[in-house]
Amino acid sequence: MTYIEPAPIKDKENPLESMMQRFDKAVELLGISDEMYYILKVPARQVTVGLPITMDNGSIRVFEGHRVLHSNILGPGKGGIRFDPDVNLDEVRALAAWMTWKCAVVDIPYGGAKGGIACNPREMSAGEMERLMRAYTVAMLDVFGPDRDIPAPDMGTGPREMAWLMDEYSKAKGMTVNAVVTGKPLVLGGSLGRTEATGRGVMTSALAGMDKLKINPYKATAAVQGFGNVGSHAAVLLHERGVMVKAISDISGAYYNENGIDIEGAIKYRDLNKGTLENFPGAEKITNDELLTLDVDVLVPAAKEDVINNENAPYIKAKMIVEGANGPTSASADDIINNKGILVVPDILANAGGVTVSYFEWVQNRIGYKWTLDRVNRRSDRIMKDAFDKVFLTSQQFNVPMRIAAYIVAIKKVSDTYKFRGGY
Ligand code: GLU
Repeated sequence: MTYIEPAPIKDKENPLESMMQRFDKAVELLGISDEMYYILKVPARQVTVGLPITMDNGSIRVFEGHRVLHSNILGPGKGGIRFDPDVNLDEVRALAAWMTWKCAVVDIPYGGAKGGIACNPREMSAGEMERLMRAYTVAMLDVFGPDRDIPAPDMGTGPREMAWLMDEYSKAKGMTVNAVVTGKPLVLGGSLGRTEATGRGVMTSALAGMDKLKINPYKATAAVQGFGNVGSHAAVLLHERGVMVKAISDISGAYYNENGIDIEGAIKYRDLNKGTLENFPGAEKITNDELLTLDVDVLVPAAKEDVINNENAPYIKAKMIVEGANGPTSASADDIINNKGILVVPDILANAGGVTVSYFEWVQNRIGYKWTLDRVNRRSDRIMKDAFDKVFLTSQQFNVPMRIAAYIVAIKKVSDTYKFRGGY
């Protein structure tokens, strides 16, 4: 094992910079021209709006909302809407670019976009959230559209918020337009399998990676950081495939059990406990950094950006990292992790199951037909597996880690498409 002296950590690493460092590396390996570099780098559109909302106590608060369309070269923009106190334009720009690469890696006909509102959903009532979502939709009426830019859930939003968006958009257009947004409740045209789709893709990526490393899932152990929509479903599905999940975590802390966590029990506990794992019984409480450095086969960071950085990376013992979150590993940790020989299945591949089933939802809305869960799962599993194999092969051809290989696959697809479409 190589130990590398950690470089000094910056105040807070910027996800946009992390994304750009990997992008730059892939561009260099592909020999992309300077012109193409700027075409792929600069977002196609950025919109920022001020949203004055009447709060339950009668006061008016102004929220700032963004929507960035990074690229529409492959098709309409696609990407979630994040409600989180840390949302800012830089973060949304990085997340939008990640969506471009993610859609290209799994070969679905979308460009990349992302939206966000700086707010704290944990401190807001349902009514306040609804007014905020509706106001944001109205402000973005000319931005969104089934052939323009199709939002979806992200951190802090879910089917309920997507239903409000679809309703407000439809009212403004004078007709029901369910294909304007994905991740909707089933009764509004949501797809079977969408809720668990990202976690399912994390599971299929983890199994594909285990296969390459010759790890038997029935003898494997995992730690999952984050117990929201991605982490909890990934944990259940890994457990179902024989993997022992030894640790989970959420905002209340991390929980460890040497003999494996009862995942179904943890989900029930969380749902009855105001959505948190606080005081979860049957497990020892550990710190978040302890979870990240546990001696397990598979580490699944499924919460936020930059949780793995150059400070904790030297101590990571997992053989594989499967990135359920967007940007959980900062660029400063890449070399440390690669030198340790850890296989990283990068975010733009590992968590692409969500947007893949979003694509299926949009297809179903447009053809006016509902697929069975079996069809959704079979098709998304195949897309995920094909994408994994393509990225793995590229990593061998270019002799680079899977992360850079995923960027190579994506950047090549977008730049080749641009060459055919042409510019002005
Ligand atoms: N927010 C999810 C992501 O980051 C899903 C996006 C979508 O379904 O459009 O991939």
